[in-house]
Order: sequence, then C-alpha cells, then structure tokens
Amino acid sequence: MPTQVELAEYLEEIRSQVCSRCVERPPGGPPCAPLGKQCGIELHLPALIDSIHQVKSEYWIEPYLEHNREQVCTTCPHLHSSICPCPMDYLAVLLVQAVETVDERRTARQLAAEEGKP
Ligand code: SF4
Ligand code: SF4
Repeated sequence: MPTQVELAEYLEEIRSQVCSRCVERPPGGPPCAPLGKQCGIELHLPALIDSIHQVKSEYWIEPYLEHNREQVCTTCPHLHSSICPCPMDYLAVLLVQAVETVDERRTARQLAAEEGKP
C-alpha cells in the first residue's frame, strides 16, 4: 500500500489530469464525497493505486479496467447501484496516465538522489 505522502502525490496528479476533465464533477468539487458525489477515486484510492501497479500493459486499457473491477469494484458498496459505473471506471485511461506520471517522477527523483550520493 502507498504511504500517506505517496497517496497525496498521486491524488494531486489525479486531480490535475483526471478530475479536471470529469463531466460528473460537482460544482465546488473536488473533493466530491462531501458534496454528495461518490467516486471510486476518493473511495478506494490506495487499492486503486495498487491495482494499477499490478498491471503492465503498454497499449491496452482493458487489462487495467478488468483488474480494477476485480480488485476494487468487488469491494465497493456501490457496485451495481445507480451510480455505477462511476468516473473511476470510465476515466481509466486518464487515471493510468496520472499514476504513471507520478511513478516516472518518483523514479527520476530516486535516480537523481542516488547519483548525488558520494
Ligand atoms: S467524480 Fe471522481 S473523477 Fe470526477 S471530479 Fe470527483 S473524484 Fe474526480
Ligand atoms: S465503478 Fe462502480 S463498483 Fe467500481 S468503484 Fe465505481 S461505483 Fe464502485
């Protein structure tokens, strides 16, 4: 599971790359849950990041979608309700891109730190 600091970085990137283009974003959101809009991104963020990290697919989104549905949606209280699927599902391409942006940035930071070592 990602740490709180890592989660905060993922969420910030997701807000920028995903929530900014979400057509279901409530006025004043995000965060959306306090405004009555339930979304898997806010409900399941740690499990969602883990689920995305467990898949490697360069060109296809389906493996990510299937894995998220298996790992995340099966635990969601809103599965098969009137609000399902939520933006977490249909914005999966943007979501995976946002997570990869953070992963690449973290790897670059790590390499820079290692190179800076005596
Ligand atoms: S509904 Fe989900 S994707 Fe849309 S703005 Fe809210 S948290 Fe982001
Ligand atoms: S797609 Fe449905 S089951 Fe999955 S997180 Fe969203 S509301 Fe929950």
